[in-house]
Amino acid sequence: MPGVVVIGGGVAGLTSALALSRQGWEVTVLEREASAGPADLEGAFSRWSRRGVPQARHSHAFLARLRNLLRDRAPDVLAALLDNGVTELRFTENPPPEIDDPGPRPGDEDLVALACRRTTFDWVLRRCVEASPGVSLVPGAAVEGLAGVPGTRGRVPRVTGVRALAADAGRGRDASLELPAELVVDASGRNSRLPSWLAELGVSGWAEESEDCGILYSSRFYRLLDGVEPPPQDGPIGGDLGYMKYAVFPGDNRTFSVTFGLPTGDSAMRPLLQPGPFQAAASALPVTRAWVDGVTAVPITDVAAMTKLRSRMRRLVVGGLPVVTGVVPVGDAAVHTNPLYGRGCSLAVAHAFAVADVAGAGNPASEAAAVALDHIIASDLEPWYRVSVAQDLQERAAWERDHGDRDSLGTLLGGDAPPAEDLMRSIVRDGLLPAARTDAVVLRAFLRGLNLLSSPTAFMEDPDVAARVLAVWQERDTRPAAAVEGPTKDEFLGILAAAA
Ligand SMILES: Cc1cc2nc3c(=O)[nH]c(=O)nc-3n(C[C@H](O)[C@H](O)[C@H](O)COP(=O)(O)OP(=O)(O)OC[C@H]3O[C@@H](n4cnc5c(N)ncnc54)[C@H](O)[C@@H]3O)c2cc1C
Repeated sequence: MPGVVVIGGGVAGLTSALALSRQGWEVTVLEREASAGPADLEGAFSRWSRRGVPQARHSHAFLARLRNLLRDRAPDVLAALLDNGVTELRFTENPPPEIDDPGPRPGDEDLVALACRRTTFDWVLRRCVEASPGVSLVPGAAVEGLAGVPGTRGRVPRVTGVRALAADAGRGRDASLELPAELVVDASGRNSRLPSWLAELGVSGWAEESEDCGILYSSRFYRLLDGVEPPPQDGPIGGDLGYMKYAVFPGDNRTFSVTFGLPTGDSAMRPLLQPGPFQAAASALPVTRAWVDGVTAVPITDVAAMTKLRSRMRRLVVGGLPVVTGVVPVGDAAVHTNPLYGRGCSLAVAHAFAVADVAGAGNPASEAAAVALDHIIASDLEPWYRVSVAQDLQERAAWERDHGDRDSLGTLLGGDAPPAEDLMRSIVRDGLLPAARTDAVVLRAFLRGLNLLSSPTAFMEDPDVAARVLAVWQERDTRPAAAVEGPTKDEFLGILAAAA
């Protein structure tokens, strides 16, 4: 009997396989990369070829939403991560020094993220999936297209399986493979070829939208030297200098990474993609300096860069009607956004568990199931897509206003920046963020949103929190401007030039 075929063995594909197999499905995961991965996690970090997942070489935040899903639905995976040196980051244990009430509160047990390298996460998850009854993982199998039944009058087209090229070690060449499936899960990531596969089947009319993130990512990993404690983490280990964003990401096994997010239009900052200027820059910022000073930690990788970052959302139900059944995009194949927000893996894991719940309710290839599967995107992923794209546009508009020409600002926002967008930005910057430094109630609301435990707008929908935020916002002109910790852009360019 056909089971479920999952295309791609990344976070979304592996979690889908785990969750679906626990609902009783036989699952086959086809992963294009041939390497099953090194035997140990440090090998996974330094030697695992992940050409299909280039972001594995970049910093990853694993938010409380993801950690709590593992705690509640896959405790064996969470335990395996912790056994392999991943640590839990308890956000409320070190509140800002100015907070009005530093004591614990109900719900704090949910505000816990994971300090973990992406390669460690995938390596551990993959081992858990490989050990799961009901899952067969096929490395070196690249899906080339879908099999399906065309639509007829009154019936939408239905996907019935996949076509793949699989490494055939016995014959020393790739062999064609056709696998029937009750449900095909497309978890092939941000470069999914689902649109062309659907078009080949004669399917049309799905909904897709996309927007440039406007940033370029530059990351490097470090390891703490033996016997050295990490610098104190009693405040944000990151910041926004206007011309650039940066952060330190704690990892597993005494590793951490530093990432710079640069506006794509700013070629003057490109030296940051080289090790010398990267190190000089990290040493120049007050927040990162203590981490990279050479007596605390040493770099363990070169500098990795990632460009052409776009946000995208794809939906197979339009106007309440499915354009195809028997296939569902999950994780980045359905929705991906600016990586700076650190939400992709958490949303992918949440998406995978929700898809398994729908499939577990029976007949996942029905039109009713297609609508239920799409509802997951509409209710849980789309709000984050919308808020990410809106924030990217506001950030770029602000950057253009400060550094670029006003014409491109107009193009970006279709005229002058709409007052509502500016207002929301101001409420976050001049109300929510300062209030979260002093008010324990607002801090919790802020952390819940940051960790995807509430909706993007929840802090303004709770009357108590909204009143506290607005009270701080209304005093914005009477407060001294928050000091920007770091060099001016001209000083920073000088630092880069001296190190180039
Ligand atoms: C620079 C950067 C930084 C990021 N930082 C964060 C962060 O801090 N926190 C966070 O949560 N998220 C972050 N993200 C997002 C996160 O990496 C993604 O959301 C996550 O990888 C999505 O998982 P996925 O399984 O959908 O896709 P992927 O992880 O991309 O996996 C897709 C898999 O499918 C395989 N595949 C592709 N095509 C085929 C095919 N035809 N046949 C078979 N297999 C195929 C690939 O080889 C790959 O293994 C970041 C992203 C980027 C780009």
